[in-house]
Amino acid sequence: MTLTEKDSQYLWHPYTQHKTSQTPIAISRGEGALLWDENNKEYIDAIASWWVNPFGHSNKFIADAIYKQLTTLEHVLFGGFTHEPAIKVAEKLMEILPKNQQKIFFSDNGSTAVEVAIKVALQYFFNKNEKRTTIIAFENAFHGDTFAAMAASGISFYTQAFQGMFIDVVRIPVPVKGQEQESFEALKNVIQTHNCAGFIFEPLVQGAAGMVMYEPEALGKLIQICKENKVLTIADEVMTGFGKTGKTFAMDYVSEDPDMICLSKALTGGTIPMAITTFTQDVFDAFYDDDINKALFHGHTFTANPTGCAAALASIDLLQTREMQANIERINRSHLQFQKKIENHSKVITARTLGVIFAVEIKSYAEESYYGSMRTKLYNFFIDKGVILRPVGNIVYILPPYIMTDDQLQKVYKTIEEAIEMV
Ligand SMILES: *Cc1c(COP(=O)(O)O)cnc(C)c1O
Repeated sequence: MTLTEKDSQYLWHPYTQHKTSQTPIAISRGEGALLWDENNKEYIDAIASWWVNPFGHSNKFIADAIYKQLTTLEHVLFGGFTHEPAIKVAEKLMEILPKNQQKIFFSDNGSTAVEVAIKVALQYFFNKNEKRTTIIAFENAFHGDTFAAMAASGISFYTQAFQGMFIDVVRIPVPVKGQEQESFEALKNVIQTHNCAGFIFEPLVQGAAGMVMYEPEALGKLIQICKENKVLTIADEVMTGFGKTGKTFAMDYVSEDPDMICLSKALTGGTIPMAITTFTQDVFDAFYDDDINKALFHGHTFTANPTGCAAALASIDLLQTREMQANIERINRSHLQFQKKIENHSKVITARTLGVIFAVEIKSYAEESYYGSMRTKLYNFFIDKGVILRPVGNIVYILPPYIMTDDQLQKVYKTIEEAIEMV
């Protein structure tokens, strides 16, 4: 039996309708921006394996750091104990995060990083005896698949089976160009009519919505409105963090700092599942009390796993090298050129770029749903050509590993151009 055949006997895949979907491709190895399947077919990973892998597959530098940590201290419980890797990650993050971030809390994935932030926002006001229970989020947001994260997510595809079972979330429009005022007014209105605890947002780029982009000035204004009304702000940088937008964090473009930041995905360079939620001193202080009931009773077995911490430290070291920063700039310049080339194509609605993120919206004659027919046609075309891209409806985006070569990038662009002609 091939791996693919064995897979269908035992495994249940994410976001997959097993009755109608094609069988998955069995990948047996990876190097740099390339992956090979069990038949040795080569693929360019143009989405960094769901945005986690900026430094290439099977990265030696991170692997060595992991091996060294595994043979020194692989894991120890974080309740009542601490260790150097966790402290080093904290010290490193303090150097690179917005200056108001003072405390870090570890968990395992993007959803739990968000779950922690939302629980902290709600308990912050509970601890202060203030009744504030509404969370504000953007339309079409994606914050993960656990319950509070799902409640904050606006993509109905993911959440429709659970409507009515969620915490209170009110949605406001994303301040895309021309819609800023509407967004500001909606936020003010929600704050006036609800007891709002927090506002969660994907800063500057909504990833799962199809790389929807908006300006830092608009986000700054929204955060300012929240601050005037003592609503806590949560920047979900799970996708945007660690260089994707051209700066270390998307929030580095924004004049106002948030109260909390969620990190995961590229945190460990795509090696070990790990996440971090960061907080201001003020947020931490609301839980600091003689009363044990005011503590944050949240934790995960693998909290602050030392091996994950070692991977995170190695990843951040790589990100900070001059070489990696030059790679990010190179990819950005290349994307901007490609954008210029195709944005006036008769089948293109718009194209957009921020940092290493590029997206193009293709004209379609039917209403395109998230996993609609155009999406399937495009996806299969790309896979056939050996390029891994996962379109969102009629939107094709690229989020390459930063080490992707120019030749590989050109092949990705060329394949997208062919796909536009094909559909
Ligand atoms: C992927 C993602 C999450 C969820 O992360 P998981 O690790 O898949 O749980 C949350 N927020 C954003 C912005 C994401 O892109």
